This record gives sequence, C-alpha cells and structure tokens, in this order.
Amino acid sequence: MSSSKIPCTLVWLRRDLRLIDNPALFHAAKRGQLITVYIFDEDCSGKRRTGQACLWWLYHSLKSLRNQLSQWNIPLIVKSGKDAFTILKKLLDRYNADAIYWNRCYEPFEYNRDYSIEKRFVARKIKVETYQDRVLYEPWKVKNGKGQPFQLFPCYWNQCLSLPQPRKPYDKPKFTVHNQGCVEYKYDDAGVWQLLASIADNDTSTRLQDFWHPGEEGAIQKLKRFMKNSLKVYSEKRDCIWLDATSNLSPYLHFGEISPFTIWHTACFMRHSTTRSISVPLHCTKRYLTELGWREFTCHLLFHYPDLPEKSFKSNFHQLKLEIDEEKLHAWQNGSTGYPIVDAGMRQLSQAGFMPNRVRMIVASFLIMHLLIPWQKGEEWFWNRLVDADLAQSVCNWQWIAGCGPDVAPYFRMFNPVIQGEKFDAEGYYVRKWIPEIAKLPNSYVQKPWEAPPTMLKIANITLGKTYPRPIVEHKVARELALATYSQLKRKR
Ligand code: FAD
Repeated sequence: MSSSKIPCTLVWLRRDLRLIDNPALFHAAKRGQLITVYIFDEDCSGKRRTGQACLWWLYHSLKSLRNQLSQWNIPLIVKSGKDAFTILKKLLDRYNADAIYWNRCYEPFEYNRDYSIEKRFVARKIKVETYQDRVLYEPWKVKNGKGQPFQLFPCYWNQCLSLPQPRKPYDKPKFTVHNQGCVEYKYDDAGVWQLLASIADNDTSTRLQDFWHPGEEGAIQKLKRFMKNSLKVYSEKRDCIWLDATSNLSPYLHFGEISPFTIWHTACFMRHSTTRSISVPLHCTKRYLTELGWREFTCHLLFHYPDLPEKSFKSNFHQLKLEIDEEKLHAWQNGSTGYPIVDAGMRQLSQAGFMPNRVRMIVASFLIMHLLIPWQKGEEWFWNRLVDADLAQSVCNWQWIAGCGPDVAPYFRMFNPVIQGEKFDAEGYYVRKWIPEIAKLPNSYVQKPWEAPPTMLKIANITLGKTYPRPIVEHKVARELALATYSQLKRKR
C-alpha cells in the first residue's frame, strides 16, 4: 500500500504495452509510487471482439511487460470486465492512489469510453492525465480548409507533413524504489490469464511461436534489423514478397510495443546518419514514412467515420446484393483456389498470422472481384487470423480494395493473380515456400500449374484436382462477371 507521503499513480495500460516512449508511464514515474493495470473486456460490448491470433499475442505481451515491470517492483494487475470505470475506481481506493494516467486511444468506442471515464474521475477530484500516443497526428488536428476531415490520402498526408515534426520519443521511465514490496498479484482476475493461456496453447497459436516474438524486446529487434538491412532498399524491394524486406512491425505497433514516434525518428536518423554504410536514400525514407502515413490515415478515417466497420462508405454499394458461394469461400479460406499466389497467401495467414501487403491486396481482390463475395466476409476471416488485426487498418484497406471506401481504387482495377504472381514472385520462392506440393514446377508454370504440359506435371508429382486444385474460376470469365455486376452500381456516394 502507498505510504501517506508518496503520491501513488495508477497507470491504465491499453495498447501501449512498452516502457520506451510511453508518456503515461514516464510522467507517472516522476510522481512516485506506481501501479499499472490492464483491463481485458471479454464481452467487448460496443467494440469488436479481439481476434484469436491477437489474443495469443496479447497473452505473451502482457507476460513480457509484467516481467519488465516487476524488476522495479511495479505490479501489472490484469483485470477483466466491461465496466472500466468501476474497476479503476476500486484499484485507486485499494492502493490509495490519487491520480490516474493513460495514453489516448482513437477508435471511436475507446475514445468515447475514455472521455466519459475522465469526466467521472475529474468530478471526484481525482487527477487525470492523458497523453497523445499511437498516432503521430491526432485525428482532430488534421482538417482541410473547410474544417472537415480529409477523405483523400495525398491531401491528408501533405497537410500532416506541413505540421510541426512529430515529437521526439520519451526515454524509458526512471522508476524509483518507492514500489518496494508493492508487487502483489492477488487482485488479478485469474480467469483472464486462464482464458488467454488456453488460447495461447491451441494448435494455431503454437505455430505462431515459430514466427513471432511478442513484446517490446521483439519489437526493438525487428526495428533494428529493418533499419540496418532493409530501409535503404525499401522503395525498390517492399513488394518483393519472398524477400521479407518490410519492417514486420505492424503487430508490435498494434499492441503498442513500439511507438510510431520511435519508428519515425529512427528512420529520420538513418536518413541523416553520416556513417556511409548505413546512410539511407531519401526516397526510401520518404516511402517508408508514407506507409506510416497510411496507418495514420486509416485511424483518421475511422475516428471521423465510425460506421466504417459495418457499412461500405459509398452508399451506392449498399444496394449490391451478392450471393455467397460457400464452396468458393471455403476454398479461398483454406488456400485451395488453384491460384498459387492466392493459396500461398492464405496458407501463410493460417500458419504465420501474417501476409505481406501486396499479397493481402491480391487475395482480397480475388475474394471480392473473382468470387463476388462481400468484403466483410474476408475482413472477418482476416480478423481472427492476423496477429496485427487492427480495426482501422483492416476495414479501410478492405473497403479500399472493394472500391467502396473513401479513398479508393476504381472497381475495374481487378488484379490478375497470375500476372501479380509473375511480377512479384518471379522466381516462385514465395509460392514454393507455402505450397510445397507444387515446388517442383519450373518458374514458367509455378504461378499457373494448369498450363503445364502433362509430362511436366508428372515429373513434378502433381495431379491437378488431386494433389493441387484446378482454378475454381477462370480469370477472364470472372472479370467479365465482376465488371457486369459492378457496372450496375449507380455512381453516387
Ligand atoms: P511496412 O511495409 O514495414 O510498413 C510500415 C508500417 O506502415 C506497417 O507496420 C503499418 O503499420 C503501416 N502500413 C503499411 N501499409 C499500410 C496500409 N496499406 N494501410 C495502413 N497502414 C499501413 N495492417 C494492419 O496493421 N492491420 C490490419 O488488420 C491490416 N489489414 C489489411 C487488410 C488488407 C486487405 C490489406 C490490403 C492491408 C491490410 N493492412 C493491415 C495493411 C498492411 O498490409 C500491413 O500493415 C503491412 O503489410 C504490415 O507489414 P509491415 O509492418 O512489414 O509493413
């Protein structure tokens, strides 16, 4: 319990599971004694239920942060429940804490909840401090000339870049010894750990361990590796899907194990570094920061248009009534469409909880355009399997591919999966890795096994329709059908 002289602060952790550049922890540590809490809302009332792969990540992330904090005798208490105010209030009373600090979240549900909690604490004379986090530009600070939110990325990003540079990251908090003897987990809700542990133990989750190392340390390792090896070729190589030339930081960003400010300033530092071996060309830095900009933009859109997860932004798409072909949907989900690039992506998703951006675009476009299945079905499937499933990025990207979002590709920009495969995986490394049964095909057929001569299929041990499926739709036919279906939409927002 808190001594009467040393102020005690409760820090409410959410999607900021880190020590470096954590403003709420940094400022709270300066006050004296510190308690931290994470609240798991299993009912997710009003909010999207956390996907399975993300639950696995969360479990390991919480364990990792709890270990880090325990070195300073700072408890990380894990509670569950939907009434965050009551949980926080009880903890404040129990630890005799007089202040509560948190970093801001921007999903509409979270933002509204936090606003109301803040008001209730302030009315009870409890000190509340909240800090900008998760985004470089808070959604209400970027507006067009008419004071409206932006709907087009280039205009949005130009406006952001005209604002002052994002702030420098905070150091790790300087924890004091005030917390001596404070670590006690008896107030944890054991049920949450049991639930998360049971998810972390299932088959899919066990597979994720081979690919990921959740927690702040894992994030810093990824950042260093990317900055040292790949940033300098990012522009040219980011779409080489077999090369792993992107940062892979999206899940760490989602859980706040690294902040966008740390990434931003590290990338800028690399650009201006005087050491020749690590100096990075301007166009690569710019390109990478622009991708971070897309992340900002999706957050901006969801904040201003909270219906995006439920409804297509363009209302003419509401009239689109599509019949779902369950067999085709299953083939897409299981990676058995007969198009290697699509199947490889879907199998990577199931096994690694991830897919490169280019492949996400190809498989999403295939579902929506070739199979004429509503984007929501794909989004739902991704949601449970991606380790970086993030509401804003997920719904905005799906709506972008479907052509129904605010800043969209025209619907007739339909990806040809064979051409995409040949362009971005010319040597077939990516498809061979995820679909070993076609690995023996030469490069010229590995993206289109159905065109391989029978002798070649035989040498490669492939029986189409048996060891690997024939294409479930023919590209040209699917394209005609998609164009006919979408051309019926009346052009209006
Ligand atoms: P890098 O190329 O290293 O980019 C750096 C960071 O920029 C990423 O970590 C990410 O935060 C951001 N970024 C990159 N591309 C985009 C983009 N198109 N939109 C928004 N932010 C971007 N990203 C998610 O984090 N969660 C999702 O649920 C998600 N769903 C997607 C669904 C579809 C259909 C598509 C096409 C894209 C989706 N993305 C999602 C965006 C993108 O694919 C991933 O952010 C990216 O592949 C992550 O890899 P990386 O960290 O190596 O990216």
